Amino acid sequence: MTITDDCTRILSKLGVDAALYTNGTLHSFSPVTGERVAELPQHSAAEVQAAVARAADAFRIWRDVPAPRRGELVRLLGEELRAAKDDLGRLVSIEAGKSPSEGAGEVQEMIDICDFATGLSRQLYGLTIATERPGHRMMETWHPLGVVGVISAFNFPVAVWSWNTALALVCGNPVVWKPSEKTPLTALASQAILDRALARFGDAPEGLSQVVIGGRETGEALVDDPRVALVSATGSTRMGRQVGPRVAARFGRTILELGGNNAGIVCPSADLDMALRAIAFGAMGTAGQRCTTMRRLFVHDSIYDALVPRLIKAYASVSVGNPLTTQALVGPLVDRDAFEAMQAALEQAQAAGGTVHGGERVTDAGPGAAFYVRPALVEMPSQTGPVLEETFAPILYVMRYADLPAAIQEHNAVAAGLSSSIFTTDLREAELFLSASGSDCGIANVNIGTSGAEIGGAFGGEKETGGGRESGSDAWKAYMRRATNTINYSRALPLAQGVVFDI
Ligand code: NAD
Repeated sequence: MTITDDCTRILSKLGVDAALYTNGTLHSFSPVTGERVAELPQHSAAEVQAAVARAADAFRIWRDVPAPRRGELVRLLGEELRAAKDDLGRLVSIEAGKSPSEGAGEVQEMIDICDFATGLSRQLYGLTIATERPGHRMMETWHPLGVVGVISAFNFPVAVWSWNTALALVCGNPVVWKPSEKTPLTALASQAILDRALARFGDAPEGLSQVVIGGRETGEALVDDPRVALVSATGSTRMGRQVGPRVAARFGRTILELGGNNAGIVCPSADLDMALRAIAFGAMGTAGQRCTTMRRLFVHDSIYDALVPRLIKAYASVSVGNPLTTQALVGPLVDRDAFEAMQAALEQAQAAGGTVHGGERVTDAGPGAAFYVRPALVEMPSQTGPVLEETFAPILYVMRYADLPAAIQEHNAVAAGLSSSIFTTDLREAELFLSASGSDCGIANVNIGTSGAEIGGAFGGEKETGGGRESGSDAWKAYMRRATNTINYSRALPLAQGVVFDI
């Protein structure tokens, strides 16, 4: 069966209307072989506005549905995702080039956030706050916010939508989703799975969850629509620089989940076997195309020679190949642009004094239109040039350090602030890294790589990563509006701050 036939089989099994992917101007390619798997009609700005109008109508109904009942829809979505896990996971592998284990893992993450959000639907609590006025009570109430626009990146084509959608739905909001133009089929499949849950749920309003297909212009129509109360945008910092100010100009809210330039520090006391495995997964997994991919590594002088040659060996021997037909751990880059960006970064690193191991194209892994590479490890004399940027490919820049506080300073000396790790068995070093003068990232780990977060914690990063938080902890608050309520149950009207105004 060809990849295109496989796509068609999965899409029709999940109930996606063939008209949505058989004739149109947006071409979807599989990075696995480079072949074109679908042609999709794109949504015009007017069609996006019509979708937002439907969502705004849905909001007026959905916001009054009790939250635990809204949670029931998300519980059903979790059930449907469990039933569709193999098919959707395989579609993720076809469209994003992930290994079957990572494709299935992405769908598992969707299931996990549904479980989390279902419980949350009975927990959308505010505080009761002591008031200075006698016979008064003060509290806060969280209300649904409005239409949520989701813009997502190619590398987590379905999980990002589910993080946003599961929370948005229990919080009382409809969702309009603009997936990456590189991964529209997994979006249509996800929507079809939610449609099944909606059919079982019964009385949800029309337009509660919609997908709009297209590129940047389609996203801009969502960004500029004043009825979209929250734009949750995941992608490059370049995209966030455009989206953030546009939404701010109309006083809309954003959750920005942007690029990372994540690093690890390996200390003298580290368990080197464990560090090796964690670094290998963090830096080479998903062919270096995770926002949390480890891109920089600081290794203490005293263990450099015990660790780095072993890492270089792992880089030389890791299996690179077709994720659908082999057991390879490293699949393809998403497209030619990604390959060229990787080669350009390696050239710059070499020019800056770096020693490059690997990085070449692996031509026997797939046909000419697919871009497989051997992951690259680059020993750098210092943190300069391309080391300071995110290149969305498997490049790990390795540098020596002698003094931990200085290494932490270097660690923090990049524009992005998403994820970070320290490998140590020394309590003082671990705690320093997690302290106020330690890592400046939204995620800081000890003896774990930079990637592979769980949904229970809030996910996101600082500085040019955008500052947004999604998924667990109290990330739900970004999807609701807060009202402070003060109730006077006395017969007097005392004013706050002792102000007197007797008439
Ligand atoms: P991208 O920025 O090219 O595209 C992301 C999405 O934004 C796409 O849907 C695209 O159509 C849309 N878009 C682009 N410009 C827009 C604009 N001006 N207005 C509205 N929409 C616009 O990113 P990509 O190549 O798909 O993904 C890779 C990037 O995403 C990396 O930088 C990676 O670190 C980042 N990422 C971040 C996170 C996170 O949670 N922090 C997660 C995944 C990916």
